Amino acid sequence: MVDRSSGRHRPAHHGAPQVRAGAPSASAAKFDKKTIALVYDFDGTLSPRPMQEYAFLPQIGADPAAFWAESNALAREGRADPLITYMHLLYKKAKEKGVRIDRRDLVAQGRQVALFPGVEKWFDAIGAYVKGHGQSHGVALRHYLISSGLSEIVEGTSIYRRFHNVFASEYWFDAYDLPYPKRVITDTGKTQYLFRINKGIEDLGASINQHMPEDNRPIPFSNMIYFGDGDTDVPSMAVMRKNGGHAIAVYPPRGARAKCVELFKAQRCDFFAPADYSIGSELFKRTCLLLDRILADIRVAEEKWRLGRGLR
Ligand SMILES: [Mg+2]
Repeated sequence: MVDRSSGRHRPAHHGAPQVRAGAPSASAAKFDKKTIALVYDFDGTLSPRPMQEYAFLPQIGADPAAFWAESNALAREGRADPLITYMHLLYKKAKEKGVRIDRRDLVAQGRQVALFPGVEKWFDAIGAYVKGHGQSHGVALRHYLISSGLSEIVEGTSIYRRFHNVFASEYWFDAYDLPYPKRVITDTGKTQYLFRINKGIEDLGASINQHMPEDNRPIPFSNMIYFGDGDTDVPSMAVMRKNGGHAIAVYPPRGARAKCVELFKAQRCDFFAPADYSIGSELFKRTCLLLDRILADIRVAEEKWRLGRGLR
């Protein structure tokens, strides 16, 4: 499938067709709220470090800590958005060094991005779990990525094809002297994409702001789990939790868990665990526990729908 907004190929789409506003699900022939969405942050959640640190920054000879410090200081001083500032600074520095990095180079950089243990096998393992534990026919599982990082780098990683859709920051490459931000996904901006998944409006050219009754939304928040690692995920976790969804916070295996404890105590997340995605890990077991609940809730909702339909 081709994303009209960029012309690039998006990950394969599976499952139910998108339900648009106004689609009367009450008259649907089948109960259609059976899609589960697992939504991930990338940097620090699926990968130990920010994705630009694996290849882009080394290629332009920039020290990661110094780069982020400079970018954040610039944003503070100029009262600029920190994400627009970093996207601009990356290419400004590349140009200063005479290094040209185009779209294809970014995709190639993605191959060097490290993932936390177990991530590559996680998608099949979770898929098998849902398949084995679904109590009603036709439950579908999707994985989504929402990242402030660069979609081209994500595209080069081995797990890109696992995602139903990837929402990440992106550049225009041709229209300007330097690549220019086309889409910037800020911390709060991430929540927009949660609503896009919830409402089934994943075409980024379509407005998300139109009202849609809960009944018409193809993936209820209660069918969603958000995975994140820190403060930048707080708006997304808050949206999830306020709307009946779920959230899990992760920290580096053998690393500090203080941030997760803080998120947990503030009830931003249901659970936290080390970012070890291997079968049988704490993260795996706690995710399965939430999936058990989601699967049971789907079964209950379907039975209610069936009962209600018989009364009309
Ligand atoms: Mg993160």
